[in-house]
Amino acid sequence: MEKKGKVYLIGAGPGDPELITVKGKRLLSQAEVVVYDYLANKKLLAHAPKDAIFIYAGKKGGSTHTHSQDEINQMLVDHARAGRIVVRLKGGDPFIFGRGGEELEELVRYGISFEAVPGVTSASAAATYAGVPITHRRFTSSVAFVTGHEEPGKAESRIAWDKLATGVGTIVFYMGIKNLPSISANLIRHGRDPQTPVAVVRWASTPEQRSVVGTLANITEVVREAQITPPALVVVGEVVSLRDTINWYEQRPLFGKRILVTRSREQASELVQILEDLGAACLEGATIALEEPEDWAPLDQALARIADYHWLLFTSPNAVAFFFRRLAGLGGDSRRLQGPRIAAVGTATAASLLSQGIRADLLPEKFTAEGLAEALLSQGVQGRKILLPRALKARDVLPQSLQQAGAEVDIVPVYRNVRPAMAADIRQALEEKQIDLITFTSSSTVTNFIDLLGLGTKELASLLAGVKIAAIGPITAATAAKAGLTVDIQPAIHTIPGLVEAIATYFS
Ligand code: SAH
Repeated sequence: MEKKGKVYLIGAGPGDPELITVKGKRLLSQAEVVVYDYLANKKLLAHAPKDAIFIYAGKKGGSTHTHSQDEINQMLVDHARAGRIVVRLKGGDPFIFGRGGEELEELVRYGISFEAVPGVTSASAAATYAGVPITHRRFTSSVAFVTGHEEPGKAESRIAWDKLATGVGTIVFYMGIKNLPSISANLIRHGRDPQTPVAVVRWASTPEQRSVVGTLANITEVVREAQITPPALVVVGEVVSLRDTINWYEQRPLFGKRILVTRSREQASELVQILEDLGAACLEGATIALEEPEDWAPLDQALARIADYHWLLFTSPNAVAFFFRRLAGLGGDSRRLQGPRIAAVGTATAASLLSQGIRADLLPEKFTAEGLAEALLSQGVQGRKILLPRALKARDVLPQSLQQAGAEVDIVPVYRNVRPAMAADIRQALEEKQIDLITFTSSSTVTNFIDLLGLGTKELASLLAGVKIAAIGPITAATAAKAGLTVDIQPAIHTIPGLVEAIATYFS
């Protein structure tokens, strides 16, 4: 049977990539073609299969259209006719000022099957994320969504301003920034109190969200002074006054802070997630990529006589991950590790071990290599055989101090650090002073970052002028200081949560 194409018109939600529906996300994961808009968060594309065809349909404020509406319609038709699963991803809700209806009419005309999935519209998100309940029993029981795109002074307005001005409690204007003067004038002229509070919210539900508040009488001025540009929503109504009490989103500790997180690809997301939950906008800079060692023989041999070891030490979650990946690849699992006692350098490493079914026998008081060495030495290591699977290149304090105390230490590489190219967007963000803070979570993130920039001391200093630096622990901080960076933030507890807490405290 011939494969039948189908189009799914899906609301991407307002900006926060977690505000897509569960159904939208599932269908996106099955897409063969994704046609997406300017307002649909690009992060959502990661839910689609890597080998899908991605088409940017553009459309930014009606000016620089990448594809005309006719071209977009034609693309949907063509791909569906070729038997493909097409996802048409639109910002907010596709049926609310999204031309979703027009696109579906076209599909009907060609007999192409389709489904539509609603989305969280930006008005709803802007109100919620600006602390404005869009309806409230004490203030209003009606709300209207209105386009602000209509040409001002148009002889025959399709908006009944006389009814709208006083007939509806809360009025939300989409695409209203350019016409804000005529919007407020129209409402006032038709009887709305000039002192009615108005909120304007730009890039709602994203880390770039900005909002300003005024009245119908002065909002044009307020917006001009704050230089608010599209995309933004205009929320008119008494409910806006509630923002004083419930403006939660913008009051999160790191709201508005732009943080460059330098980590390995594999690790970045945990730190980024916590920082973003606190309101920060994160740029992920991979300064390290982790790869398998070129030769697994040392580990394989160690595993073959694992019962001979007294201790098995893990000094990072990465070491745990690569070690167990290899063990699984050899057809084994954690039961193979009977014999040695197992130590973790810190809580994150211990948690990684736990996810492999292993509870660490030893966790030092201080979560550093020195701390682990101390903890082991206090147990006595004379004549003990110790296995240390770790990065190909790493500091030698731990094995050295153990050896000096008479232990026999086998170091086996389970991964190696390789240097990815510095993403152009990171360099640009630094040059444009778009970064408030850089986080370093290991010495190698520092050295790789500096190497990747490839600048002399002076240029480096000027590129990083005004940028705060956070280092996870004393070793990382020392490496940063040695590279000429001034470390502003250093947590007492050298873990990711500890680091985040120190950052939040610093900015509070
Ligand atoms: N279908 C979309 C609206 C598309 S019209 C929805 O349901 O949200 C485009 C207008 O939507 C923009 O001009 C702006 O007014 C508004 N908009 C969309 N996303 C926005 C956001 N994250 N923040 C503020 N306004 C947004």
